[in-house]
Amino acid sequence: MIAARSIAAPAISKGLIEWRMVTSWPKGLPGLGTGAERLAENITAMSGGRLSIKVYSAGELVPALECFGAVANGTAQMGHDAAYYHTGKSEGCAFFTAFPFGFMAGEMDAWMKYGNGQTLWDELYAPFGIRGFHAGSTGTQMLGWFKREIRSLEDLKGLKFRSPGNQGRVLEKLGVTPVSLPGGEIFPALQSGAIDAAEWVGPYNDLALGFYQVCKYYYSHGYHEPGATLQLMINEQAWQSLTPELQDIVKTAASAATRDMLAEYNARSGPALRTLVEKHGVLVRGLPEEVLMACGEKSNEVLNEIYESDTSPKHIVRRIIEDFLAFRKEIIPWTRIGEQAYVNARRLPFAFGLKT
Ligand code: CA
Repeated sequence: MIAARSIAAPAISKGLIEWRMVTSWPKGLPGLGTGAERLAENITAMSGGRLSIKVYSAGELVPALECFGAVANGTAQMGHDAAYYHTGKSEGCAFFTAFPFGFMAGEMDAWMKYGNGQTLWDELYAPFGIRGFHAGSTGTQMLGWFKREIRSLEDLKGLKFRSPGNQGRVLEKLGVTPVSLPGGEIFPALQSGAIDAAEWVGPYNDLALGFYQVCKYYYSHGYHEPGATLQLMINEQAWQSLTPELQDIVKTAASAATRDMLAEYNARSGPALRTLVEKHGVLVRGLPEEVLMACGEKSNEVLNEIYESDTSPKHIVRRIIEDFLAFRKEIIPWTRIGEQAYVNARRLPFAFGLKT
């Protein structure tokens, strides 16, 4: 029994359950790591200690990118990371973190909770013996850090750009050499010239990693991760051993973690951006329309390649893509006239503040 194996005898006698949560994050990593730690604390507190969670940082129990397998085989009952680290298991995983030109944070939540997102995700993960819940969001990310300005598509050609996953595939079609590196290895690679450009998250995390010391240009239009969402994975057998009440506590704590992490990123990114610009002289830019358009076209090519190459049982990957596209088509007109119209309105140069 996977769930029983890790429960210490004295704990069982008192009806207490102790679980392990493996994560991809270095200990104390702001936002991602601290978010996972808060989630574990909340589950423990909300259950009055009946389900207590011990968090393991990257490498403590398993390597950073092996949480999926560790949860599937019961080494840990829980894992916290990003689903798109596991596109090697299924290309469908990407859609539950971020896909280029996909959902922003609020849209992703809408697809999961009031669309078919969660149902499709459950079906995708079932053969692996795990289930996933969203538990954290970074909000819109930045495209990344560059040593030189990007004025045209020509400027992208030949760049060695730390940009993982499907974004790497998009950029490769535009002549970029995509490079995959864990967060901790990005700065030395930029410094040595092993890479020319890099993306990580946004101002809050990027300031801490010091990329501004090597790259002067910081580009927005983070179309590649418009609302990157983190996941809580749970071993299915362990999940089934919980009472319905404890299952509800886990689900509610995960949902709260999504909103809480987003709040942290939003609150910290403004001051971090100001520090980058005012203290470190970083130049913030947006991609020229010609480049953005090409990135959109290539993102669509990657989407279609994934669709065409799907050989999964019952074509679950195709059905995820079809539903993702259908939901996107329905929600975009509302986002455009709702949030987007308001954000545009706030750009008008009227005075807004106290007169005294
Ligand atoms: Ca990123």
